Order: sequence, then C-alpha cells, then structure tokens
Amino acid sequence: MLREPILVDTIAGYGGIRAIEVVRKLLTADEMSEVDLAAAVGIPESVIRGILYRLYNQKVVSFRKEREANGWYVYHWTLQQDRLHQLVETRRNMTLDLLRRRLDYERGNHFFRCESGCTKTTFENAFENDFVCTDCGTALRQHDNCFQIEEINSYITRLEGSCQAY
Ligand SMILES: [Zn+2]
Repeated sequence: MLREPILVDTIAGYGGIRAIEVVRKLLTADEMSEVDLAAAVGIPESVIRGILYRLYNQKVVSFRKEREANGWYVYHWTLQQDRLHQLVETRRNMTLDLLRRRLDYERGNHFFRCESGCTKTTFENAFENDFVCTDCGTALRQHDNCFQIEEINSYITRLEGSCQAY
C-alpha cells in the first residue's frame, strides 16, 4: 500500500511529508481519533491535527465529532479514498500533459552542447551565438538527445500503466 510514487507525491503535496504516514494508518481503519493517530504514527497530536486540517481542506479526510463523558469532544477521522483517487488522477494527467509536451519539444528540435555540458541549447540559439557556449566560451557540438527521449517515454509509459495500485 502507498508505494505508487504519484500517490505518495500527491499526499505529501497536500498534507506535507508526514501526511503519508497518517494516510497509511487511516487506510487500515474505518476511522481513527487524533489521539490514536498520534500514538500510531509517533508524532505529537498538534502536528497530526495540522496534517488532518490540510487534508480536510482537500476533502481527503472527513470527521465525526463525539462528546466524551468528561464533556470534551473527540474527532474521529476517515480517509476519503475516492477523493484521494480523484486528486491522484488529476496530478497524473497534468504530469502526463507536461511530459508529452516535453517529448514533442525534444523530438522537434536539434540540440547543441559544449564539452563541459553547461547548458543545452536549440539550433537557433547556437546559430545566433556562432556555435560558442555563452557560459564557458568553448565550441558547441550537436547533442544527441535520444537518451532523454527514451527517459521521457519510459516515464510516460510508467505513469500510463500505474492505475489503482492502492
Ligand atoms: Zn559551456
């Protein structure tokens, strides 16, 4: 559970890095109180509350309020898995969109680079600068971006393939 990178990124993005443990615990129970969550995750209740409020803002968790015999209220929190799934899908689609645009850019241009690899530049830029690196002054050579294209492609394939793995 919770091994899919995009799911972990989504939770951390909305609730902070410690929210991952909180969500992991909530996945194992129908509902949990802040006290139980704090004990299970091993972080102070005040921190747990902050995480829960951030997740609540995104509707990833909901709560039920219960009055104890001593008059205090206890909040029982439930993970909204459908909502979490929806946020993951949105993030996945945005990332895929960015990657596909990046892929088009990599495929649609010839790139140039100096020996030290300061920056990668397009043919137009290299031409304007007489094929000299603007950072270090050495000659620019054509840069083979096959490797980057392969990397982006494999990332796209992985993102397209990772669905409902939690
Ligand atoms: Zn350079």
